[in-house]
Amino acid sequence: MNPPAIVILGEASIPISRQIQAALPEALVYGLADRVQSIVITYDNFGETVRELFQAGTPIIGVCAAGILIRTIAPLLSNKWQEPPVLAIAEDGSAVVPLLGGLQGVNDLARQIAAVLQVAPAITTTGDIRFRTTLLSPPPGYTLVNPDDAKTFIADLLAGATVKLFGEAPWLENSRLPIAEAGKLTIEIIHKSQSQPTSTPSQDCLVYEVDIDCVEPTQGKLAIVGTGPGSAVWMSPEVKQILESATDWVGYKTYLDLAEPLRKTHTTRHESDNRVELDRARFALDLAAQKRTVAIVSSGDPGIYAMAAAVFEVLEREAKSEWQEIEIQVCPGISAMQAAAAQVGAPLGHDFCAISLSDILKPWDVIAQRIKAAAQADFAIAFYNPVSKQRTWQLEKAKAILLELRSPETPVVLARNLGRPGQTVTVKPLAQLAIEDADMRTVILIGSSKTRIIQQRPGKQWVYTPRHY
Ligand code: SAH
Repeated sequence: MNPPAIVILGEASIPISRQIQAALPEALVYGLADRVQSIVITYDNFGETVRELFQAGTPIIGVCAAGILIRTIAPLLSNKWQEPPVLAIAEDGSAVVPLLGGLQGVNDLARQIAAVLQVAPAITTTGDIRFRTTLLSPPPGYTLVNPDDAKTFIADLLAGATVKLFGEAPWLENSRLPIAEAGKLTIEIIHKSQSQPTSTPSQDCLVYEVDIDCVEPTQGKLAIVGTGPGSAVWMSPEVKQILESATDWVGYKTYLDLAEPLRKTHTTRHESDNRVELDRARFALDLAAQKRTVAIVSSGDPGIYAMAAAVFEVLEREAKSEWQEIEIQVCPGISAMQAAAAQVGAPLGHDFCAISLSDILKPWDVIAQRIKAAAQADFAIAFYNPVSKQRTWQLEKAKAILLELRSPETPVVLARNLGRPGQTVTVKPLAQLAIEDADMRTVILIGSSKTRIIQQRPGKQWVYTPRHY
């Protein structure tokens, strides 16, 4: 297929076309001659250019109104099997609208572009939405032998029929097709060298021929994601998308419960206890090695006192050969300290550090030494894991170390259940910090010597650390 053409009408669309190129680096930008100064391929007549591109089978991404594209291309619409993808994109990036070329992967293209623009693509194809795959436009290497039967076949699927799968096709296995051994419908995958399918192609049986040399190798994927502190508005679009498309979620029950509204029926939950991080990491790697698309779920940021480091520890220590090909991705999230800081202003506005008060993974001596060093260096400090049912004395000790070096008036922020039901955020002087103020769902921010509490109006105060000394 030709590289996609991003067709723009004016200079104002240059930024959006560059963003689209981030998703599709091979795409070329076509700009209207007198209106666009940036370096692009220029054209004089919009209608003629778009129609030429269309007839040449070039995917068209028009940064313009959907109506303009529709009217321009309308006279040429005759064969849906041949039309290239055509999409309209709003100039401000707020809408990605696939218009034509459903059989050439327009929805996948829309998803790719929408992901970089951080919007939801306006996908309207029922089969695609429901089954997350288009039977009519299989991935490279697969050819549908009996396309004329597909319409009835898909209508039956949409009406509730299940389908049995003969042969191997990861793109179908990982879709949301209702695959069942006793399915009324059949999909059969045959190899190019194989002369005859076992089943007869019909409205109840789609047959795909696969040319194994052209099939992109499928890889297991492991995404280590952070969901933010709790609330969905603090979850990144990337993490949402990964959670929605994963075949498996692995994580501590509480975190999986927080993400549950995003879980699709095809996604399996694998819950675990919060303490068995290494087992969980190993389990997730093994699942991904079976070519599944696995999301391992942490709250906050996955790299901050969470699963990402655990995965790399196991990967380094055990280095199983079957883990080598797994595509690993770490997707950041908003950490508890950031959410806490945002609630009260900018207490981490200058140099700061984070210290976990849990002495499960490191001895208390190391923790005490770090608190002292941080206090001496005049860092603002975020304390994670301040107190748990078993660990009740550490916070008192930490407070005593701090008071040797920092004023009893130092502002302290106690943030509990951020972004979750029952959120509380309180500010008090260091001298008044008490164990009862915290539990394992609390993050504590200790101000530096410069951290200040200011009054914006009666009843509205902020805590911030100035940027200069
Ligand atoms: N990866 C997480 C931290 C996990 S360690 C992150 O980046 O936020 C667990 C500790 O994080 C808890 O003991 C608490 O100190 C803090 N924490 C996590 N979520 C929190 C929330 N919603 N509200 C307050 N503190 C939270």
